[in-house]
Amino acid sequence: MSDPCDGCGRAVEDALARAVQLQVDGSTVDDQRLCPTCFADWITRYEEQMSPKQSSDDSTDSEIIVD
Ligand SMILES: [Zn+2]
Repeated sequence: MSDPCDGCGRAVEDALARAVQLQVDGSTVDDQRLCPTCFADWITRYEEQMSPKQSSDDSTDSEIIVD
């Protein structure tokens, strides 16, 4: 049996299907069946969400304040 990919809607072989259960923003559980292409794309978006670009929240990356 083959279920459609939640990303692109194409039927994917079970060998290629992946059930994703990860917490997004610590609240939402994303449960999807994705083909490898959509899975990689989803992971990219997930990592972008989990790694904020703005470093204004107690970040020690760029600015060091010395009194
Ligand atoms: Zn897909």
